[in-house]
Amino acid sequence: MQKVKELYEGKAKKVWTTEDPELLIVDYKDDATAGNGAKKGTIHDKGIINNRVTNHLMKLLEKEGVPTHLVEEISDRETIVKKVSIVPLEVIVRNIAAGSLANRLGLEEGTPMKKTVLEYCYKDDALGDPMVNEYHIMAMEWCTKEELDLIAKYSLKINEVLSAYLKEANIQLIDFKLEFGKTSDGTIVLADEISPDTCRFWDTVTKEKLDKDRFRRDMGGEEDAYKEVMKRLMGE
Ligand code: ADP
Ligand code: UDP
Repeated sequence: MQKVKELYEGKAKKVWTTEDPELLIVDYKDDATAGNGAKKGTIHDKGIINNRVTNHLMKLLEKEGVPTHLVEEISDRETIVKKVSIVPLEVIVRNIAAGSLANRLGLEEGTPMKKTVLEYCYKDDALGDPMVNEYHIMAMEWCTKEELDLIAKYSLKINEVLSAYLKEANIQLIDFKLEFGKTSDGTIVLADEISPDTCRFWDTVTKEKLDKDRFRRDMGGEEDAYKEVMKRLMGE
């Protein structure tokens, strides 16, 4: 399968069309941004790690009954995926207070939430991805009620599967962001990526951060942290 035309260049990935109108190739870059593009940099080999970790976790989720866009990994940085129409929402799942939730509610980072928290943000960089609720989503017709219920159900299932799986690797799943899309036949599938760019991963014992917060917060050591996640999950 060959890349035909660049469809889109985002902050972390390029998306290409292929000869098959139903399939795309995503190409993961080393570029890193934070604060809605305000901070820019690169994390060496991030594209390779995020491509491989995403596919590893999506394969696991498929086995557990969550449909995903994954078709086939074709190189270190490139994967064939089903073309979907992205539901313009970032679904955030939270187990432990961190980042914007800790700030918004005045919680100390690391405070466990008594119940899993689901949040929706409207995916629009120009507006700074504002948080929305089910009423906004219905009023804006970004998806139907049935689709949103399915997205919420899949998100909670993904949290259960990944939390248990990561725990085995001594990684605590603090929070993460998901995107869903609709295939040409109307099926809702998990799309985009699941990686140290889009999840907060803490070492279970030391609580060391193994994710993009190292870059966002100028802590350093982001390359080693990303490598450590891949090593713990994939043994390399
Ligand atoms: P951003 O757009 O936030 O800068 P990326 O650099 O990760 O993010 O760009 C990847 C883009 O591709 C995102 O807009 C994402 O919603 C979109 N995308 C992810 N998976 C698919 C898919 N299977 N089909 C169509 N678009 C997708
Ligand atoms: N996240 C993401 N993309 C975004 C916003 C958030 O992948 O555009 C992820 C982020 O990595 C974290 C979770 O979603 O795992 C919750 O992020 P939060 O709202 O706390 O945002 P931040 O602190 O990054 O502003």
